[in-house]
Amino acid sequence: MNRTEWEAICDGCGKCCLHKIIEDDSDDDGEEHEPVESLSPTDYIREGEELLYTNVVCHLLNDKTCSCSKYSQRTKLVPDCVQLTQDNLDDIFFMPPSCSYRRLHEGRGLPSWHPLLNKGKKTAMHKAGMSVRGKVMKDDEVDIHDYEDHLVTWPLEDVD
Ligand code: SF4
Ligand code: SF4
Repeated sequence: MNRTEWEAICDGCGKCCLHKIIEDDSDDDGEEHEPVESLSPTDYIREGEELLYTNVVCHLLNDKTCSCSKYSQRTKLVPDCVQLTQDNLDDIFFMPPSCSYRRLHEGRGLPSWHPLLNKGKKTAMHKAGMSVRGKVMKDDEVDIHDYEDHLVTWPLEDVD
């Protein structure tokens, strides 16, 4: 698969651009948990830890089209921006269940709302509620210490 074919698999939902927090269930000492982004990025999760999604999205995401506004410069502008490749798919735990790469990796195939199955349009995906459109705030509007007030479960939903 060449790069163009690989990138075409992406549904452009924008869910991977949401900030996430890793919560340690075993750490029940009442102390406030720090958002993982305030510490360092991670590519693994420990037993007993849970990945929680927020509705806070990278400021470079166009929240109407759900596309990156600086795609070619994204890794320079946002060093933590995740670049999925065929070689790092095993570290895919942080991607939402509806992510096309995750679905294919898990043998679930593409969903009926995927743009590739809808003449390249995102309309069906937005209608199915599978994108971030209309549900997010930008990370330059929310203090990182307030991310725990923005936890949401809708990014975990997957249909079809
Ligand atoms: S730089 Fe672009 S692709 Fe990366 S997280 Fe931000 S909006 Fe998403
Ligand atoms: S979650 Fe997956 S399919 Fe959706 S935009 Fe991100 S990489 Fe693409």
